[in-house]
Parts: sequence; C-alpha cells; structure tokens
Amino acid sequence: MSGDCGARKNLVFLGWILVHLCAMTYDPAPFAWNFCPICGNPLEPLHDGESLRPKCAGCRRFYYSNPIPAACCFVADGGRLLFVQRAVEPAKGLWSFPGGFVELGETTSEAALRELEEETGVRGADAVLFGASTQQSPISGAVTVLGYYVPAWTGAPAARSDAMDAGFFGRDARPELAFQAHRELLAMYDRISAALTAGKYP
Ligand SMILES: [Zn+2]
Repeated sequence: MSGDCGARKNLVFLGWILVHLCAMTYDPAPFAWNFCPICGNPLEPLHDGESLRPKCAGCRRFYYSNPIPAACCFVADGGRLLFVQRAVEPAKGLWSFPGGFVELGETTSEAALRELEEETGVRGADAVLFGASTQQSPISGAVTVLGYYVPAWTGAPAARSDAMDAGFFGRDARPELAFQAHRELLAMYDRISAALTAGKYP
C-alpha cells in the first residue's frame, strides 16, 4: 500500500516537472494587436469612448481583443471519460478533452463534435452544453471553452489529428490535464454528475 502511494507521488512529481518543462520550452510573445490586418499600418492607442483601444487611423477601425471560442467534449463510457494526449503545442504530450477552436460557419456544438471525430474517430451526437470556462492565454489573449456532454456516440477511440493517444480513464486514473479551463469544466462535470446521482439536479 505504501509502495503504491510512493509510486503515485513519484508519478505526480514527474508530471509536475513535465508540465513546467513544457511551459518553459513553449513561450510565445504576449498576444497583442500591433498592426492593422487590413492595411498593415501601425495601430495607435486611441479612446473609443470607454477606454484606450488599438485603432487604425487609415481604416478608421478599432481592434478589440476578445476571448476566442473553443469547445470540448465529455464522452463517458460507464464511469470513465475520454481523454486525448496532445500531439501539438501548446502542452504537447499532456492530456485534454477532445476539442478545439470554433470555426466560422459552424455552431459551437458542431465544432465540439467535429473536433471529437477528428482527434479520436468517435462520432458523437446530441451534445449538451453543461458549462463554460474562460482562461487567459499567452497565445490568443484569452480562450472561452464550452464543455459539452455527448450522450450518444459510436466508434472505438484511436489517436488521430492533433493527438498521440486517446482512451477512457476512470476517476482514479485520470491523467493530468493541460489546461485550467478543462480542469474547471471537469470539476463542473463532477459536481453535476454527483447532483444527478443524488437526485438533486432538475
Ligand atoms: Zn488599416
């Protein structure tokens, strides 16, 4: 028993080192608008009536830095959840829920299910939005991740686009998650699951 506990602590410590090594080796410049993407002129900070914003004098357009919408899927097999191991930066080698950024022309649930199939080969349906988490990001300024529960799905998960591994993990064996937004969504999912089990959720 104590040997198992020691081995688990070692694994946790190794995971902690890996997370921080990844953070050290992937360090992009802070996100900022510096030039107009339409005409290429330098932007200057001007007041839009509320606060200073980057503005292109030539195009007479302010640029606003808003969180980028993303979506991820919670696919359950009994008490286990589907995770993917990331094959791309940021946080390459760490784990997340299948998901990605929403593209123009699709809804957020379509984006979630598209990413699920792209990364794992699993085809989902009837995705239900259960939560959202917004986190700051050095790459894109900030990201708002929508968490979808996927009650209907088919296929056996296998690592595909952007993933080096994919599989179901039970509660006691969940891998370390790469993103704070996914950790927050997992906590919401667990709270809702517990409430449903206890009959305390509408
Ligand atoms: Zn311009």
